[in-house]
Amino acid sequence: MKMKLSEIARVVGADCPLAEGDCPTITGVAFDSRKLKPGDLFVPLAGERDGHEFLTSAEAHGAAATFIAASKTPITTNIPQLVVADPLTALQKLASYYLLMKVNPKVVAITGSNGKTTTKDMTAAILSTQYHVVKTPANFNNEIGVPFTILSMDTNTEVLVVEMGMDRPGQLTALSGLAEPDVAVITMIGEAHIEFFKTRDKIADAKMEIVSGLKEDGLFIYNGDEPLLRERAEQVDQQSKTFGLDPDNNLYARNIQAFEDHTEFDLSKWPDLHFTIPVMGEYNVSNALAAILVGRRFHVKPESIQSALSHFDITANRTQWLKGDAGESILSDVYNANPTAMKAVLRDFSEFPCGGRRIAVLGDMLELGEASGDLHASVAPALDPDKVSEVYLYGDEIVTLRDALAKRYPADALHYFKKGDQQALINALQEDVSYQDMVLLKASHGLHLENVLAALLDGD
Ligand code: ATP
Ligand code: MG
Repeated sequence: MKMKLSEIARVVGADCPLAEGDCPTITGVAFDSRKLKPGDLFVPLAGERDGHEFLTSAEAHGAAATFIAASKTPITTNIPQLVVADPLTALQKLASYYLLMKVNPKVVAITGSNGKTTTKDMTAAILSTQYHVVKTPANFNNEIGVPFTILSMDTNTEVLVVEMGMDRPGQLTALSGLAEPDVAVITMIGEAHIEFFKTRDKIADAKMEIVSGLKEDGLFIYNGDEPLLRERAEQVDQQSKTFGLDPDNNLYARNIQAFEDHTEFDLSKWPDLHFTIPVMGEYNVSNALAAILVGRRFHVKPESIQSALSHFDITANRTQWLKGDAGESILSDVYNANPTAMKAVLRDFSEFPCGGRRIAVLGDMLELGEASGDLHASVAPALDPDKVSEVYLYGDEIVTLRDALAKRYPADALHYFKKGDQQALINALQEDVSYQDMVLLKASHGLHLENVLAALLDGD
């Protein structure tokens, strides 16, 4: 970005302390003083510590100017200050102005309980075959990350692909209003944040807020396999399109083949093209379908879409294949877990060719609220003793899954460890796992299965 300090002052409603001719040109924004580049505007935000404490560091890194919250004045700085009521609101105002008045790209906004980042990466790869695209870096998807993403665009950006997260009602209304998307995507509705929302209905309502800022001639793309979204889409005035695995959808996949390191599928729409995505999991086909619909909206040719999807850059692949000390293959997914994602990964894991036994090591899924017991038990149908022969469960809440599995699994194939008994779990696994086995590790990060992973890798 490139904007005179005086123009920024006008946009955020602050007095500019310098005469027009003396105003520096601001070339970026930073809220982390350590990552600030010379010429940036520093935005002190409230976090664990107050951002204003880092003004000296921002100056040392070359900040050209800074916002200051009115409540913190007077503060002495060596760089020009724009005093604003709230630096975060000022950042959002500035982002909205920069987006709509300075760059004015087409905007694709992506939300959903899971699959946002993957769909964002796939969409950006497809659109990049034909346009100059900027996408959300990493996982910057909240009320700070979205304006930050917007302000990181260069002025010749044609399409902005922006991930939008939410953990409470109203958040997506604000983000969608800020970005005024041309295309709004909902990947799926899961159970993330159900502790707060209580029901999937309420989660669906909150996700639907992404449509609130959608342009009148915009397109709403959503997962048509989800009845909660189908019902709600009827109230949307803008055009909509659905994707999913059900043939009722505008775009659906056939012949899905799951491999350990990639997934293949066909589309009835283009029978001559066969699609390969370099990521594991049937759920990623659904993410790809969303991205394909966006690509078609922007007239990207089917062949270009197919080729872009075959080698897209993925921001963060949380599922990883590793080789354990006993020679076993380990599928590690230890940073995040919710029932939908756990069932999805178990479905794929159950089908991977395996010379030994398939062993699932599953831990508590946190923040599921009152329904936690039922939601843990709801994973049971995804486990079949003929396919996954041993199940290790670790944690307090997952005890309901043990009870649900007890009817179908032989007692000596079902192993349960209370939270805190991690060393016993490790010992049992080290005893049991052998060459050619395939081991899945999945739990919420709070269970720290990364320690179990480390032990299996080292064999200590
Ligand atoms: P976050 O909320 O952390 O930003 P995200 O929505 O960006 O997550 P991704 O990073 O794309 O999601 O994927 C995270 C995990 O979610 C994957 O590793 C997988 O386990 C699961 N997942 C991804 N896509 C789907 C999907 N369409 N349906 C179900 N589960 C999915
Ligand atoms: Mg994400």
